[in-house]
Amino acid sequence: MIGRSGMAGCILAAVLAAMAWMPDALAGITPEEFEDRLAHAEHLNVTAPWQESSAVMDELEPYLDQATGNQYARFRLLEARNRALDGDLPQGLAILERLFDEPLDLEYRVRALQRAVNLATLARRYETAFAHLSQALELVQELGSDFQSSMLHSNAAYIYAQVGEIERAVDYGELSTSQADADGDLRARCIAYQRLGYVYKVKGAAEESRDRYRRALALCQESDDDLIAGVAGYGLADLLREQEEFERSEALFDESMERIEQTGYRSGMAEARLYRARLHKAREEYGEAEAMLNLALDQLEANEVWEYLAEAHEMLAGIARDRGQTDLALEHFQAHSDARERFLDMDRSRHLAFLQVEFDTQSRDQELALLREQAAVRSLEEESSRQQARFRYFGYIMASILVIVLGLLLRNAIKERQHFRRLSRRDGLTKLNNHTRFFELAVPAFEQAQREGRSYTLVLGDIDHFKQVNDRHGHLAGDEVLRQVASHLQAIFDRHGILGRIGGEEFAVALPDWTEEQACELVNQARDRLKESRIGKYQVVVSMSFGVAAAREETGLGELREQADLALYRAKNAGRNRVVMAHA
Ligand code: GH3
Ligand code: MG
Ligand code: MG
Repeated sequence: MIGRSGMAGCILAAVLAAMAWMPDALAGITPEEFEDRLAHAEHLNVTAPWQESSAVMDELEPYLDQATGNQYARFRLLEARNRALDGDLPQGLAILERLFDEPLDLEYRVRALQRAVNLATLARRYETAFAHLSQALELVQELGSDFQSSMLHSNAAYIYAQVGEIERAVDYGELSTSQADADGDLRARCIAYQRLGYVYKVKGAAEESRDRYRRALALCQESDDDLIAGVAGYGLADLLREQEEFERSEALFDESMERIEQTGYRSGMAEARLYRARLHKAREEYGEAEAMLNLALDQLEANEVWEYLAEAHEMLAGIARDRGQTDLALEHFQAHSDARERFLDMDRSRHLAFLQVEFDTQSRDQELALLREQAAVRSLEEESSRQQARFRYFGYIMASILVIVLGLLLRNAIKERQHFRRLSRRDGLTKLNNHTRFFELAVPAFEQAQREGRSYTLVLGDIDHFKQVNDRHGHLAGDEVLRQVASHLQAIFDRHGILGRIGGEEFAVALPDWTEEQACELVNQARDRLKESRIGKYQVVVSMSFGVAAAREETGLGELREQADLALYRAKNAGRNRVVMAHA
């Protein structure tokens, strides 16, 4: 009995103990520590017996509310795996199902689905497995990770092999190993090759199976994954038994089962024992076979691996019968047929599940193919319209450049043409109409005046003694005199008629609508201007003689010119510096 004071003492001690514990608990754990321990648990989970990582996680669990979303997902993924390794597949699956309700990053959702596929397959819950597989296959494309794709595809290979879709299993398995090789992660490669080894074994392709299993063994040992190394080991040992290489099979069973034992992977151990019992049976070691099977029965039943359980009971029944243990034999036969029935049930639901997924997968594949094609068409369209736009743009630029260049060339050509035309019409020195141009203009004017019966007078003027100007002052002075004379003549005649330089120092004026007398007056104005002007630095004064002829009966301008010429000649002869009218 405890007295009052004793009771109080107990309570005090408890409070003190709680207080001593509390600061530590309240201090919590830093995010770095949490991450370190979680990573440690993950490492242990694949390199040590699952209990070790489970212990680390038990310590971590009180701080789980401090975890980030991804850390929480990682924790639960580990927990599910540990439950499965402990042989409680349904509990492992339940943890994953709860995780699916959390808002997970794509990567963790894929990892959780993939793990669920794995556990559901091991638990022979094919409906669940295929449903998760289908979802995961869809999401993993989005994720674009070789590692996750490889893990998932190796799962797919395994599950398809289980439902007898062996070609598809091989496809997924080969895909998985090539993705794992590309990713380079040793563990992913170990798993992928182990599963492909299994697929080829189910297919009956012993050579391929043996090759993949051997590669898996090497990769798993290198990556320190005892569990998968063990699974690959007993898988290969079983194959060697089929090939009747009993010695090597047995050695490999010893080695791999020791590995599995260390990891504490109960389901694996049960499977390995069943496989090993097959070897014992083949070697007629019935006692050993029976011992192995009896060790496996509970776990096989717990995992509801009905076909294995049926096989185990069948072997046990045979052994009992041979020994004459009729009751025991009957019991095992009964258990065998129960398991067999449940297997057939499961097989039916497995096929239904498969068919459902098959339908989903096919329609998804078709949908994907359609989307891919649409995307390809779209990108082609975009590319071609981009190219067209580029060409159009380029074309516009080239056309613009061409238009500008042509425009400039044309402008230059026009300018040049105008220039040459001016040159061809103008006299270079005086800028007056040249001989050709003068007559081009004067002839039609003459003809029009003749037609319309109007007057038309032609004036010819010649500078007097111009030779002397050149002789006395040089040609440059002579040129200057010519220019100045031209300018004076222009000032008088240009407004009234057509003026031109038709010879060296000889000028002509056509005056439509002017009579001889009127023309004469105009000429005299010009003579007056010349009289007053002093030209150039030598102050040259020049006079001109003019012949004036009005049109009468003349048939052409040539005739009229002769008349005017004659008058000019008379002016010269009469002493120069004067104007003579042809018809005066
Ligand atoms: P006249 O009074 O009889 O007309 O005598 P003239 O000296 O003016 O006539 P002539 O026909 O003997 O000489 C004309 C001169 O005009 C000869 C030539 O050197 C000169 N001459 C013709 N064209 C030009 C020219 O463009 N520039 C210069 N400086 N002299 C010219
Ligand atoms: Mg002359
Ligand atoms: Mg002269």
